[in-house]
Amino acid sequence: MSSTTTRKTLLSGSRPTGRQHLGNYVGALAQWIPMQDDHDCFFMIADWHALTNNYNDTSSLPENIQYQVLDWMAVGLDPERATIFVQSAVKEHAELSLLLGMFTPLGLAERCTSWKDLVIEQGLEEMRTYGFLGYPVLQSADILMYQAHVVPVGKDQVEHIEKCQDLAQKVNVRYGEVFRIPQWKLSHAPVLLGNDGRKMSKSYNNCIYISESSEEMWDKIRVMVTDPARIRKTDPGNPEKCSVWDYHKVFTDDSRHGEIVENCTTAGWGCMQCKKVLFEAIDAHFAPARERRAAHEKQPGLWKDVLMEGNRKARERAQATMSVVREKLHLYPSNGSE
Ligand code: SF4
Repeated sequence: MSSTTTRKTLLSGSRPTGRQHLGNYVGALAQWIPMQDDHDCFFMIADWHALTNNYNDTSSLPENIQYQVLDWMAVGLDPERATIFVQSAVKEHAELSLLLGMFTPLGLAERCTSWKDLVIEQGLEEMRTYGFLGYPVLQSADILMYQAHVVPVGKDQVEHIEKCQDLAQKVNVRYGEVFRIPQWKLSHAPVLLGNDGRKMSKSYNNCIYISESSEEMWDKIRVMVTDPARIRKTDPGNPEKCSVWDYHKVFTDDSRHGEIVENCTTAGWGCMQCKKVLFEAIDAHFAPARERRAAHEKQPGLWKDVLMEGNRKARERAQATMSVVREKLHLYPSNGSE
């Protein structure tokens, strides 16, 4: 694509958690899909990052990667327009992480919020590892490897991009223009709760998955926790205290929002009716994804081919970056021939 060279490079990714739920969709995928139109996108399945807190059992990784790629493609990440790849298939990430580690003061790593939270405050001994302490450095390597202009992040991730910028600056000041300084693009995506009203998480068994059938989706939506004040159908409710309303704001057409608020606050309808409206909106929203997924599943090797090509493209870009890094840092082979 001729415009690729003039487009800004974007890097984003997530750990291989397997089947993607509506929280993954709203928080990341729905943001990434339109960015493919005007960015040179690299979407990474961060399998090494998955090991930082899950190093004792990696058996689910292959299946999770497969499901993740299938879901990503189903909702509209397009391997023809974006590079979808697996972090561990591009070994240069490990090399760059090692090098950036040399530039990382221990204090900087220890000030990371997740380290302070899990290791210092909660005292989780199993997290007191070299790998977990260093994961922001690996994350910096992921970003700098692609000379990314833009990294879409949630508010809690901004500190990591700032650390990445600091590291890149530090290297650039000493060794010349090695890295592009990446900028973050703050996402204002709403957070959707699980159907039991808690944080949406596989471990709570409260997720609604993108790949579920209409029937499965309805089974989960109809038992969603609502405003506790609505004990009887005649009790008026407050949408702001109900996670069903949070979903409506994302999936139901804006033209119906007034009707939903009115019917909730005046007890004009029961919660089941309200959930029916929501179900119809979600079901229609994911109908094209279901069709795409069904078509992709007829080609069993497709997800592997997509990753193979994505890994190849990512590796090419990574090798170009590492040639520059090695040369600028006077590392072997310093003459650029390998
Ligand atoms: S009517 Fe709808 S918004 Fe109001 S409490 Fe029930 S489910 Fe929630």
